Amino acid sequence: MAESQNSPTYPTREPVDFVVVGSGAAGGVMAKELSTAGFSVVVLEQGPHLQAADFKHDEWDYDYNGGLMWGIKQGHPQTFRKNENEEAVEAEAVLGYAHNVGGSSVHFSGNFWRFRPIDFMEASVRGTVPGTNFADWPISYEDLEPYYTKVDWEIGVSGLQGPWDPPRSRAYPCPPMPIKGPDVLLERAGKQLGLNPYPAPVAILSQPHNGRPGCIHCGFCNGFGCEVNAKSSSMATMIPLALASGNCELRTGCTVSRVNTGEDGRVTEVVYWDAEGTEQAQRANAVVLCANGSETPRILFLSESEQHPDGLANSSGFVGQNLMFNGYTSIVGLFPEPVNAYKSVPATRVIHDYYELDPNLGFYGGGGIDGRHYSRGTPLNSALMSGMFGGPTWGAEYKKNLQQEFTHTAAFDGHTTSLPLASNNVTLDPNVQDKYGRPALRCTYMDHPDDIQTMSYFYDRTVELMEAAGAIRYAGEYPENGQEGNVHLLGTCRMGDDPSSSVIDKYHRTHDVPNLFISDGSSLITSGRGQPTMTIMAMAFRAADNIIQAARRGEI
Ligand SMILES: Cc1cc2nc3c(=O)[nH]c(=O)nc-3n(C[C@H](O)[C@H](O)[C@H](O)COP(=O)(O)OP(=O)(O)OC[C@H]3O[C@@H](n4cnc5c(N)ncnc54)[C@H](O)[C@@H]3O)c2cc1C
Ligand code: SF4
Repeated sequence: MAESQNSPTYPTREPVDFVVVGSGAAGGVMAKELSTAGFSVVVLEQGPHLQAADFKHDEWDYDYNGGLMWGIKQGHPQTFRKNENEEAVEAEAVLGYAHNVGGSSVHFSGNFWRFRPIDFMEASVRGTVPGTNFADWPISYEDLEPYYTKVDWEIGVSGLQGPWDPPRSRAYPCPPMPIKGPDVLLERAGKQLGLNPYPAPVAILSQPHNGRPGCIHCGFCNGFGCEVNAKSSSMATMIPLALASGNCELRTGCTVSRVNTGEDGRVTEVVYWDAEGTEQAQRANAVVLCANGSETPRILFLSESEQHPDGLANSSGFVGQNLMFNGYTSIVGLFPEPVNAYKSVPATRVIHDYYELDPNLGFYGGGGIDGRHYSRGTPLNSALMSGMFGGPTWGAEYKKNLQQEFTHTAAFDGHTTSLPLASNNVTLDPNVQDKYGRPALRCTYMDHPDDIQTMSYFYDRTVELMEAAGAIRYAGEYPENGQEGNVHLLGTCRMGDDPSSSVIDKYHRTHDVPNLFISDGSSLITSGRGQPTMTIMAMAFRAADNIIQAARRGEI
């Protein structure tokens, strides 16, 4: 269905300048940049265009029925296995993302760390890690810095330059969020241990910016859409500007199945099912895939042809490979005084002293620690998870414990590196299909031993912090047997100079198809330390800049 606002309706049989597939974190930026530069753009988005007034504090719908997600209940099963010798089994939201205009930027937590200079050249500095595809980026922090700053100001980021932050050309547009309960504890404990906690950068407005209001600290943030548009999703920031340009048609409920190429090997059209389920094809001079680290490889695999038997843009065989999730750890502590962690945004302080671990530890890794609510901080989640300190899960004592735990707990979470491995990948499942008859997404994933050691290291650091913070009791976990799903979907169409070991060049153009571009989580080469979306959006601004320049030079 085409959007009605100031939006053109382009005929499908006439080529538009660009089709952008997916309107998420990267796709929203791409649509806005290309359309405001004067190009005709059709955005194909499989989900609906929800807006601030549509969002609700409905845990049952969002958390338990996957209301914003794209899973088995919506006719889109996924399968999971730890290695290729196992049979993949159906599992919910292994490759987790939201299907709506704005993608997962609508319901994410908004933690928005920039990568640092080291992230772009770590393989050279640290040396390669045997058995992995750990590699340097073909671009540097300096190349991306102007675009990080564009994200800060155009998307809207709140923060304060910290002791470990990379250099920035302009201050944050909004001051940091006010500190919340768990972060008071984290900050106190961190300082006691000689660490440097500082305000966490977030894609959430602490004060009005670009015509949007500041956060009202409702607390239903992680996993929920923002009812006042204070969360800086591409839905709230980029899509309105794209639609106002008069050059962008947003077609929602449109699921792309494949990209067709002509005899000259160039992309000619994008095939999709419209909101009524009818197959359509939009002709285009160029296509930008922004469907995320799981769906972009699926579209490329499904676009196989005689010329591209292993899938489009896959002469390297790297499409779908090197899937990175980011590791995590979480510990919850019970405190004698109220913490009231359920209020406000997910995190307001971060400790980055462990960003690069000492190579003498014998494994590769690094990350950050922030203070949070326990189990998203929402009432139903907390009720279902109560009992973690060993109490009963029913009856009067359960109720008493729940009352205490909801208000008196704080969580300290670690967010860590993931190494790129060929054996961690997204492929097409030969046995399971979605409601359109497409092969389901199959995820094969087992964390590298260094990633598990890194999580273990971070778990130990959060135990120290909990003890220093004065927790009466604490309990926690990290996936010591490997993760079985995540919402960070990275690396599956990686960038690189060498066409035999990467899918796109440093300008996001696929090595194999001159008028096919990719910009989303799949473009990343290494995982950063968690919170990849700031970098995904900065890369999308940079990609759009280069695509626009190439188009104006007649080079597409
Ligand atoms: C609950 C949650 C919390 C998170 N918290 C954080 C955080 O604090 N910090 C952080 O950095 N990251 C966080 N993330 C991750 C972050 O949201 C993602 O990294 C980011 O949104 C990825 O951007 P993307 O452009 O690659 O893809 P997405 O944002 O996933 O966008 C892809 C879009 O493409 C559409 N699409 C896919 N396939 C098709 C198709 N075939 N046809 C048409 N449309 C299609 C999808 O519907 C979607 O709208 C979180 C994610 C979740 C789910
Ligand atoms: S906590 Fe703030 S940013 Fe998050 S959903 Fe509520 S009002 Fe929006």
